[in-house]
Amino acid sequence: MTYVLEGHEHRVSDVNEGFECDACNRSYGDGYSCGECKFTIHKKCVFVFNIQARINHPSHDGHSLEFLTTGAPDHTDPKCHLCGKNTKRLLYHCYDCKVNLDIDCIIDSLCARSDLNMEWHHHPLLMVDLKASLMSCDFCHGTSKHGYCCPRCRLVIHEGCVSVFESPEIIHPSHVRHPLKLISSGAPDYTDRIRLQCHLSMEVMIIIYSTSNNDPVT
Ligand SMILES: [Zn+2]
Ligand SMILES: [Zn+2]
Ligand SMILES: [Zn+2]
Ligand SMILES: [Zn+2]
Ligand SMILES: [Zn+2]
Ligand SMILES: [Zn+2]
Ligand SMILES: [Zn+2]
Repeated sequence: MTYVLEGHEHRVSDVNEGFECDACNRSYGDGYSCGECKFTIHKKCVFVFNIQARINHPSHDGHSLEFLTTGAPDHTDPKCHLCGKNTKRLLYHCYDCKVNLDIDCIIDSLCARSDLNMEWHHHPLLMVDLKASLMSCDFCHGTSKHGYCCPRCRLVIHEGCVSVFESPEIIHPSHVRHPLKLISSGAPDYTDRIRLQCHLSMEVMIIIYSTSNNDPVT
């Protein structure tokens, strides 16, 4: 099965776990790959295709940064001009300066300039079209409508699902390092996804009480 990924000229196909993401460099979970560009990207990271039009990095005022999907151009330093990390297949390139920027540095600047601040999350957020950007809500798994996206945490949630964050924070013995929020329903695969989210972001973790017993699934 292939999909149209908004912001990309080729159709992408599903890939299962065991790949290294060309946007964030981590390996976990499922993703999409483009056979022509030879990049693989987490389902959680596809928002980078959605934000590309808005990029105008303060370190390159007046220069246009172009989103590339096939790695650093020949004869350029593949290291990120800002943080020095190696870039992968997905990166931004400044044709004026002939330098490359990795996705993390782009996300940082994007967050720094977003003014969509919500009480329930301590990073600035972006509004995204879930359907066009092939993303799903972390709470209900729905893939339609619009929602909020925190690019740093890879958190995606519908406007209507935000009330989940109004539940009180608790400190659970299984996870004392971060405050947790309690949800009363959900499926096991959802648990995994959220737990993963937490370990990446160190911010959001949701414990789900299974319907068959009252022990939290930790
Ligand atoms: Zn990724
Ligand atoms: Zn492609
Ligand atoms: Zn960087
Ligand atoms: Zn430049
Ligand atoms: Zn939702
Ligand atoms: Zn966040
Ligand atoms: Zn955690």
